[in-house]
Amino acid sequence: MKNLLLIYPPLVKACEPPVGIARLTACVRHQGVHCDVWDANWQGQMALLQCSTQTGQELPRTRQARSRMQKDLDYLRQPHGYGSFDRYQLAVHRLNHLMRVAAKPFSCTAGLADFLHQRLQPVVSDDLLQAAEHPEELPFHSFFQEQLQRRLAQNCPDLIGVSLNYLSQALCAFSLIGMLRRMIPHIPVMLGGGLITSWMCRPGWRNPFAGLVDDLVAGPGETALLRRLSIADPPAAVPPDYDPLPLQRYFSPGITLPYSASFGCYWNRCAFCPEKAEGRRFQPQTMNRISRDLETLVHRHHPRLLHLTDNALSPRLLHHLIDHPPNAPWYGFTRITAALADVDFCRSLKKAGCVLLKLGVESGDDGVLNGMNKGHSVALASRVLHQLHNAGIAAFVYLLFGTPWEDESAAQATLEFVVRHQREITFINPAIFNQPIEPGQPAQPFYGGDLSLYTDYEHPRAWSRSLVRRFLDRSFKRHPAVAAILRRTPPFFTSNHAPFFCQQEESAQ
Ligand code: SF4
Repeated sequence: MKNLLLIYPPLVKACEPPVGIARLTACVRHQGVHCDVWDANWQGQMALLQCSTQTGQELPRTRQARSRMQKDLDYLRQPHGYGSFDRYQLAVHRLNHLMRVAAKPFSCTAGLADFLHQRLQPVVSDDLLQAAEHPEELPFHSFFQEQLQRRLAQNCPDLIGVSLNYLSQALCAFSLIGMLRRMIPHIPVMLGGGLITSWMCRPGWRNPFAGLVDDLVAGPGETALLRRLSIADPPAAVPPDYDPLPLQRYFSPGITLPYSASFGCYWNRCAFCPEKAEGRRFQPQTMNRISRDLETLVHRHHPRLLHLTDNALSPRLLHHLIDHPPNAPWYGFTRITAALADVDFCRSLKKAGCVLLKLGVESGDDGVLNGMNKGHSVALASRVLHQLHNAGIAAFVYLLFGTPWEDESAAQATLEFVVRHQREITFINPAIFNQPIEPGQPAQPFYGGDLSLYTDYEHPRAWSRSLVRRFLDRSFKRHPAVAAILRRTPPFFTSNHAPFFCQQEESAQ
């Protein structure tokens, strides 16, 4: 029998199990392959929190954070931890501080949601190769070493798969691969995931990791993995397998299960979107399969929350969820569409378990929305926010400032939109536009990184990043209505923890 080890490297938010790894696990186990799964992200963060207890001299703040660590972790894992926002903030800031302290001797900044190195950039392939060459320079080195020795002694795999989805994982992933190369040079390593897919879709892509990684995989990795295992069958339609993951230990109050009902985006038209720039095809699961998978997952794990991870839940899928509710509360990202402007539709969604919708509102100016090709108007966004509020569904609103179609007066219109809808916007995420690198367009990659997905560009209306940042800091975020919304948006975990506050508030009513 074949033996596979799948690894999810640090560092991303450790509030739910990794969905990609769970999908691959289900696929290979269905074929009788023995599959070990290692969530080195969650476990690595626990190791970092604990190793921060070993420093000699420390500040009172660190001492206090250390003495409260276990209580703070327990707090995040219980529903009542989301009953007091102030108490929650204290807990996450203390845990984040402990991670900062542990990573500092390595010239790194680690936190509950980020990982940076002072010198090495995750968008520079030479820096990633250096992390692989000198894994001891990163804070997870001794944790990786101890875990790998133990795991490899118990069960030496025939193949190792590493899932790399976010930039904050890249340096740690390559340092881990460097260690694997030294410890078991003859075992092939496959590297896939969302970030690898984006890199491989980059115009002019050339693989800089050929000497280190045996296979790089773009898109869903099931077919490539089966082929590597010499299995000719196509991937079976089976639900993600979360059994080997530590479901009760993530930083959430009960089990949160992520599920992807599609890959790519059904809309795929927004002018600023990397999904579109990468030319990814929309690949939805069938509605029958979605219902079957969700039913199995809910029956098996009784999740406190389902996280539908699609780029945008299509109106068709939302209708389907109304007709076939998954029997567990859920949340996800969707577009502003006419369907959501109907209060009966919103009430049906609520009845089907929808706690919160993440919405790409982006702007309060119609000219900007048209330029972006968002497919909605300011008036429609207003009606949608109003009806979601009436139906009791929380709105996590995403705004994008500094796009090529915006100027200061359009940004001001967005501020006024938020002020008008302050009662209806539950949480908010204001971001600054990055220009994706597009095929055939001249590019000046950020940080000079050969793997950067974004390029520097000159704003056509001289609404530069520095002016946008000043507007956000001095006008937008300081407006009392916006400040009040930002104050209730969970730090670090943002939309991942936001639904728990909504659930807690509802149960208190
Ligand atoms: S809806 Fe979202 S994922 Fe889809 S094209 Fe627009 S920005 Fe991209």
